Amino acid sequence: MYKRILLKLSGEQLQGNLQGGVDAERVKWIADQIRPLLTSGTQVVVMVGGGNYARGAQLAGHGIGEVTAHNAGMLATIMNAIVVSDIFNAMRVPTVALSSVPVDQFIDHYTYRRAEHHLAKGRVVIVGSGIGRPFLTTDTAALSLALEMKCDVVIKTTKVDGVYNADPVKDPTARKFDHVSYQEALSNPNIAVMDKAAIGLAMEDKKPVIICALLTDGNIARAVAGEQVGTLISL
Ligand code: UDP
Repeated sequence: MYKRILLKLSGEQLQGNLQGGVDAERVKWIADQIRPLLTSGTQVVVMVGGGNYARGAQLAGHGIGEVTAHNAGMLATIMNAIVVSDIFNAMRVPTVALSSVPVDQFIDHYTYRRAEHHLAKGRVVIVGSGIGRPFLTTDTAALSLALEMKCDVVIKTTKVDGVYNADPVKDPTARKFDHVSYQEALSNPNIAVMDKAAIGLAMEDKKPVIICALLTDGNIARAVAGEQVGTLISL
């Protein structure tokens, strides 16, 4: 159903069961989930987070300025982008890593045209450093990139399989929503699956966002095929 997707992978997911850094076994598993998408002709853009190393909002303080902290967060995402792209390629998932902030020694610079070129060649495009400006999360950067690259959908993979009316880990009576409107996602304080800036961008462009569990085999492919998976955030 969706021809071009934006997949948001958080640092925490790349970390897998480790205490920090990247769990190569987890990333190999993700490569296996993405390979069938390429085979069926779906174009895949990945925005990686950096929370397994640094998040600006948490790092700032004790003398570390906010801009420096966010820059460190963006550098963390670049580490993830280059490492994940190597593992994907080793797993025969052709991939290129691009960075919004030029760091030419480590990674090619992202441009819209370069990303289009790689997608047309059937490569996964992993974007590091978000959109290259501080005070944003990679969720918001993911929506911005999805708008720029005209992705048909944003898929954010999470630990739980969608959006609940309460934390399902703490509350066994928590109920999952199959669908949540942008308005509801913005106004309901219990829905914190994505920051409001990201939801706002999605709403402005009527970009569907699917929240689903990463670790359910075939979940991403089912979401791409248009099956009911996790929670759809849309109009
Ligand atoms: N970041 C930023 N601008 C961007 C994207 C990310 O400043 O366009 C910084 C921000 O400090 C963020 C950090 O990079 O906290 C790492 O990204 P994020 O926290 O979204 O990672 P995740 O939680 O998804 O692993």
